[in-house]
Amino acid sequence: MKSYDVCESCGEEAEDTIHALWECQVLKEIWWEMEICRRNLFTRFTCFRDLLTGIFQATEPNQAESFAYVAWGIWTKRNTARMGQTSTPYQKIYAEAMDRLQEFHSVQLEQPQSAQSVEQTRWCPPPAPLLKVNFDGALFMESFKAGIGVVIRDSAGNVIGAMSERISLPKTVEDVEALACRRAMEFALEIGLHQVVLEGDSATVLNSNKGGLPCMAPYGNIIEDSIILASQFSHCSF
Ligand SMILES: [Zn+2]
Repeated sequence: MKSYDVCESCGEEAEDTIHALWECQVLKEIWWEMEICRRNLFTRFTCFRDLLTGIFQATEPNQAESFAYVAWGIWTKRNTARMGQTSTPYQKIYAEAMDRLQEFHSVQLEQPQSAQSVEQTRWCPPPAPLLKVNFDGALFMESFKAGIGVVIRDSAGNVIGAMSERISLPKTVEDVEALACRRAMEFALEIGLHQVVLEGDSATVLNSNKGGLPCMAPYGNIIEDSIILASQFSHCSF
């Protein structure tokens, strides 16, 4: 029974919550990355609550958030390792937590931004005989789903075709935009259109689609598909 209580990471001390998240020697390098924690690195806290209040006496903005993401990363690693599955190495936990936090922030920022741009940007009709394909991607974090929407209009603003579909949650906002762009092109081809102008929110995705250099982004393979699709139109611009 005793051995069950010993921390599996260091194999030395008894594992309670405070040990699993803070005290354990193998975690020190992770907490070292956070300046606020570095100062308290060898402070002994009696429990997790004590740790939180101890650390956040020096209330610095966003530190609690970073702390929570790192703690979550440590806890997940502990649980995955216990299940005998491959888990994130200790030296990558901090960086991964910060990536995740940054992604969370970018999603939070992006939503109001895209709502604003709907108001501010006026839709411009394409010159005839071109058709304008507007596409958009949206993330629904609560349901771990994303959605894609496409609307195609002619030079008089008449809707020629529209579609929307749910997809499983990709990793980043730009992945969704890249997927939406590819789907928009497939849809235009499916309904027999040959001369199109594509328009979407993400400048990065649109620029990648203009081609030239290979796209090194994680969604590069989606862009490659889109470039091949683009070659099937007699006119396709972004
Ligand atoms: Zn330990």
